[in-house]
Amino acid sequence: MAAEQSFDAYRLSEEHEAIREAVREVCTAKVAPNATEADETGEFPKASYDALRAADFHAPHVPVEYGGAGADALATAIVIEEVARACASSSLIPAVNKLGTMPLLLAGSDELKRRYLTPVASGEVMFSYCLSEPEAGSDAAAMTTRAVRDGDHWVLNGVKRWITNAGVSEFYTVFATTDPTARSRGISAFVVEKSDPGVSFGAPEKKLGIKGSPTREVYLDNVRIPADRMIGAEGTGFGTAMRTLDHTRVTIAAQAVGIAQGALDYARGYVAERRQFGKAIAEFQGVQFMLADMGMKLEAARQLTYAAAGRSERGDADLTYFGAAAKCFASDAAMEITTDAVQLLGGYGYTRDYPVERMMRDAKITQIYEGTNQVQRIVMARQLLKD
Ligand SMILES: Cc1cc2nc3c(=O)[nH]c(=O)nc-3n(C[C@H](O)[C@H](O)[C@H](O)COP(=O)(O)OP(=O)(O)OC[C@H]3O[C@@H](n4cnc5c(N)ncnc54)[C@H](O)[C@@H]3O)c2cc1C
Repeated sequence: MAAEQSFDAYRLSEEHEAIREAVREVCTAKVAPNATEADETGEFPKASYDALRAADFHAPHVPVEYGGAGADALATAIVIEEVARACASSSLIPAVNKLGTMPLLLAGSDELKRRYLTPVASGEVMFSYCLSEPEAGSDAAAMTTRAVRDGDHWVLNGVKRWITNAGVSEFYTVFATTDPTARSRGISAFVVEKSDPGVSFGAPEKKLGIKGSPTREVYLDNVRIPADRMIGAEGTGFGTAMRTLDHTRVTIAAQAVGIAQGALDYARGYVAERRQFGKAIAEFQGVQFMLADMGMKLEAARQLTYAAAGRSERGDADLTYFGAAAKCFASDAAMEITTDAVQLLGGYGYTRDYPVERMMRDAKITQIYEGTNQVQRIVMARQLLKD
């Protein structure tokens, strides 16, 4: 997967289309079959992880120099979209590997990147991102997790909340305040390992959707780490956290597009088969108009997502705006499309015998994490009003 790609939003390059086909093949055969079970049991879908790892789709964004596939931002978005079409929980494998490692890629030393990215690229380990806390969600700069310097070490204490893949991941980017008086300018980023003494995890959260993706608290109790585990300079952590989200909101948009595509595909098949009043319900104009709206919103979301992916790859100045817009638009569209898919299946859609109610529950999280959609609108408005 080469980095040189065209980002023509109107037509994908042959290479990007080939990536989509390859991911779809793996997901249809080896990821989709585990989706219902992951939802029912709440267990991490290890078989999906193994299938994605075998095909090198578990962390496709890791650059070639660190042993990765070197997928550009658009190719990574396509991978996440296609995995989400089959199983939203599994799509958090490539998505959160990117989220967890992006601070390193943006601000880490070469030595730190080499040490921590290589095992992610090989699939030996996963990487999580620890920003949120019980009392610091939308207002992430209000975090109280503290890092105190002690000779050649930092000592971390605090609680991180809602951490995706916590317990399964081996490595964690942890944001902590090194100077509580300086608020966002006093926050620094660190790599913490699961095996560091003092690291432990809360019970898995009981969630509405993405049930196969573990979400747990991460407890840091006098966790003593070498000073060279700081990512970038002291006090630059909050900036790194926000720059990370600029890039990874594009991947949440891609996840939303994938979930919505899965629901539309299922609903299209269903309305062609289901008969009422002596004909297929697809023959009723009321049903056709719903499908048309679903398809229209989905394609608009996809195009905005790919346009944002191009900006992520190039590091354009308007990425902050596009990342927020793509995430907000695509997740709102996914919520509408999956809800309409349930409607098109009637009573059957409301049962767990059909996959669309799972897709509707899974879509909801895309409006909440990596900044709620209210926060995305704040980000967009700020960009529009600056200057
Ligand atoms: C399943 C799941 C996985 C997650 N994974 C991770 C992860 O891996 N790493 C991580 O760090 N975090 C993660 N999160 C945390 C997630 O990013 C936060 O839940 C989210 O940012 C919202 O914070 P909060 O839950 O504290 O809500 P709050 O900030 O308390 O918000 C509550 C409501 O108030 C609204 N609101 C808040 N401030 C404003 C404002 N200024 N204007 C208008 N409305 C506002 C919000 O939009 C929301 O509707 C995850 C969350 C979930 C549920």
